[in-house]
Amino acid sequence: MDCAVMALSTRLNDEDVASLAELGNNAWESHLQRLVPCPLCSRTFFPDRLGVHKRSCKGPPTTSSRRPRSKMGA
Ligand SMILES: [Zn+2]
Repeated sequence: MDCAVMALSTRLNDEDVASLAELGNNAWESHLQRLVPCPLCSRTFFPDRLGVHKRSCKGPPTTSSRRPRSKMGA
């Protein structure tokens, strides 16, 4: 079993590892680009979730000390 793992790892040279990292980076960036910021609170959401969020969005999060730890609805 160990032989198979070793054979696999030795097949990966530095170039392969670099391209793998690049692939991961691109995937992450395109993931970020898909997110849309809420115009009210600036949090980012997937476009299909933003509509749902905006219905219940209360605007930017306020650090009001008047009502600390009040129960926040979902
Ligand atoms: Zn919002």
